[in-house]
Amino acid sequence: MAAIRNVETMSATERLDFAEMAKGHLIQPWPVAGEIGAEARGGIIAGDGIYVTDIEGRRLIDGPAGMWCTNVGHGCEPIARTLYEQAMTLSYNSPWYTASEPSVRLSKRLAAHAPGDLDHVFYTTGGSSAVETALRFMQFSNNVFGRPTKKRIVARQGGYHGSTYLSASLNGRPRDHDWMDSAGDLVVKLSCPNPFRRPAGQSVEAFCDMLVEEFSTTIETLGAETIGAFVAEPIMASGGVIVPPPGYLTRMRELCRENDILFIADEVVTAFGRLGNIFASKEVFGIEPDLITFAKGVTSGYFPLGGAMISAALLARLRQSNHADAMFAHGLTYSSHPIGCAVAETNLDLLEGGLLAHARDIAPYFQAQLKTLEDLPLVGEVRGLGLMACVECVADRESNNPLALDLEVGKRIDAHCQQLGLLVRPLIHMCVMSPPLTISRPQIDDLVSILRQGIALTQDELV
Ligand code: PLP
Repeated sequence: MAAIRNVETMSATERLDFAEMAKGHLIQPWPVAGEIGAEARGGIIAGDGIYVTDIEGRRLIDGPAGMWCTNVGHGCEPIARTLYEQAMTLSYNSPWYTASEPSVRLSKRLAAHAPGDLDHVFYTTGGSSAVETALRFMQFSNNVFGRPTKKRIVARQGGYHGSTYLSASLNGRPRDHDWMDSAGDLVVKLSCPNPFRRPAGQSVEAFCDMLVEEFSTTIETLGAETIGAFVAEPIMASGGVIVPPPGYLTRMRELCRENDILFIADEVVTAFGRLGNIFASKEVFGIEPDLITFAKGVTSGYFPLGGAMISAALLARLRQSNHADAMFAHGLTYSSHPIGCAVAETNLDLLEGGLLAHARDIAPYFQAQLKTLEDLPLVGEVRGLGLMACVECVADRESNNPLALDLEVGKRIDAHCQQLGLLVRPLIHMCVMSPPLTISRPQIDDLVSILRQGIALTQDELV
């Protein structure tokens, strides 16, 4: 049996061995060439509730909920029990034509929560494969509908959609493309809908008009017959928790409808309680997308699962097409995994059984307390919604000019905060906060107090 260790049972030598083994054999995500294969750092070895424990025995608040995913918190017994019981009942089932019971039950429950007519689910192994599935589905549909040129994908600067070839091609941060190939000729990038970085002197309303106009002009210039999909995170997560201007998403949705462009809402982060609802598209932003992609919070990180919810109208259109034998040649060995789906059901029970209400109730306090950090000279803006927020640091608060890239202020803040008991997700000069939804008011006070100290210490270092 795998040795499951906690820090109390690890000797100092074992901790050193652990560090050596990690450096010797593990490649972590997003490594740089100069350190690849030798970059493994730290080590989190236990978790309970909103806390994790590192290999030195320090207990830290899990500020980013892992990677926006540990929504019900660590060490959740009902989920652990489900993992065990489902593994003992049916550990795997081939998804080809035979549906497992948990996957059928979960699909029905997700359909009941999804907006509009999104009543079918195609399960994947995570967010990238969910976005990849949605995009390949768009390509397939347009082939079946006899529109082979309607394949361009419109995304936005600053967005993040995954690490498979097509999903990664949508990513809108320069570092995602600097050294990587992509299907760039298929993708068109619109401006980032970030009100904080709108042109000086422009109102938020005028900024929104400008963004919608940009999409409209893009459609006119390229031709609607060449554009298959618009893909958007309702709130850009890894781009720095960008809450778009009011009305932006509904107007973009309308343009898609008018031009028969599929609106794919990438809810990999915003679903499953992060904004207080199972899905945020309709309840929070008033839109009914054609497809929704999800992952992360669907299992609170206890099992790798994602999926794409697909509109019934679109499926009906395919069923009625002239190509009954056209195959959507796309599937994963672990599509509809019974353990993942069973875990997602227990996760849903917890969300529906009080956690969504708690997340909605506590979110204003979370946002208000974080907002108090705007009195620190280094902080340009604290923004967010629900239980996702971002603290953006600037060189100068008058102009909000960005800091020099090599200062890596986010990393410095994270390093200080880790000493003080908080994990931060640093994004260049930003710190993301998206804790487990179970967080309480006193725990929010602790989180904000540590973050304040971490920012103040970083500020002292810069002068
Ligand atoms: N879409 C969004 C909005 C994400 O934030 C992420 C990951 O952070 C992904 C897709 C990719 O998900 P995964 O890492 O599970 O493949």
